[in-house]
Amino acid sequence: MAKTISHIVKRPGRLPGEPDVEIPIAEDLVTVPGSPTRERDVSFYSREYPIETQNIEKAADREWGWTIYTPEVLEYRKGHDVANKPLIDAAAVSGDIPPTVSPEAGLDVTDSIRAKATDLGFGEVGFTKYDRHYTFESKKKWARFSSAICLALEQDYDQTQTIPSLEAEYAHFGTYEIAGAIALELAAHIRSLGYHAQVHSPNDNSGIYIPLFVAAGLGQLGANGQLLSPHFGSRARLLIITTDAKVTHDEPIDYGINKFCDTCQVCVDRCPARALVKDRVWWRGTHKNKLIYDRCRPVMVTYEGCAICMKVCPIQKFGMPEVMQHYVETGEVKGKGTEELEGYDLRGKGHFGPGELPHMGKEIFEFPHGTQTDWLVTQFKEKLAANGGPETEDAVEFAEKLNVLVGRGDDAQSDE
Ligand code: SF4
Ligand code: SF4
Repeated sequence: MAKTISHIVKRPGRLPGEPDVEIPIAEDLVTVPGSPTRERDVSFYSREYPIETQNIEKAADREWGWTIYTPEVLEYRKGHDVANKPLIDAAAVSGDIPPTVSPEAGLDVTDSIRAKATDLGFGEVGFTKYDRHYTFESKKKWARFSSAICLALEQDYDQTQTIPSLEAEYAHFGTYEIAGAIALELAAHIRSLGYHAQVHSPNDNSGIYIPLFVAAGLGQLGANGQLLSPHFGSRARLLIITTDAKVTHDEPIDYGINKFCDTCQVCVDRCPARALVKDRVWWRGTHKNKLIYDRCRPVMVTYEGCAICMKVCPIQKFGMPEVMQHYVETGEVKGKGTEELEGYDLRGKGHFGPGELPHMGKEIFEFPHGTQTDWLVTQFKEKLAANGGPETEDAVEFAEKLNVLVGRGDDAQSDE
């Protein structure tokens, strides 16, 4: 049944030189521009429970992942890390490099930066305040400058449709390599305009980038936990550059995604790990579908990055203009229930069409948790139990304390 249109969002075409596109938003999808947010809660959690990078908080499973990859993935990932290291190193010191000229007084350089970013290949470019509420604790002293330039680089369409596969991992990590390199070029351009530019590497993230992209009007948060941008949904890799350049900030936009995801639910229904949840909760001040990390992570590590939640998203596959037009005309989610959108193969388990999910034994969900220290303590405790206890007096005392500590458990002090 045809829907009444509330408003039409106008965006630049997908590629440079292509005409603008119009995205009709049905009246029954309207909520708020950007994400429903309680700023006081965002502030409170950021101050009292600052977020930290998974490279630290989840270091145990990051290490473990290297032991789980297939030999092909392992070899490719090692090569990627070698290729990526100089880009990460260059980004780390990019904020210290001085501008090459003095800035032209009063000149707003937004258009110049946007044009250069588009020329370099970024498919979405937006400007917003650099909101430190989303900066990792360990990066707070590193991150500089007050404006954020949000940059999304689209990853290959065909390779992405093969998810989960090694082919799709080439697209995933290959796009990061390109993004990291062209971001350094864009930073050099900003310096040539008279300003500083700090590249926040897409492989050494300084914080959560999606809220900044949403604030810059480049999409909204999907139920899959990813940014759904207008042309390629979440089939993109994100990074930011912070700068002291004189720029004009964009505004958040209501693309109708907050409600559309409630109707669609394809990613939730298709996740092989049952890691995506149907209902939204308030999480650190944002109303969102909170992914269950401990269910997603082992499946992602085992099956070539998984990302089925990206592959089956209609916005990724068809683009927002087509999906929203279809919804306005029919009231339906384009592709939902079809093999084309929802089907996938899982290595060793077979093919799964709409309505079919693989069985995951409980063993896959048994993996190391927490920081490296947490993991060491756990291993030590297991060794004590296996060996019947240590020999020396000091070790006995330590073991007793450790057993008390581990027995009581961190969870007893947390309500998260
Ligand atoms: S990556 Fe895979 S396991 Fe994780 S949420 Fe997406 S579909 Fe589920
Ligand atoms: S698959 Fe559907 S529910 Fe999931 S993120 Fe995409 S649009 Fe939203």
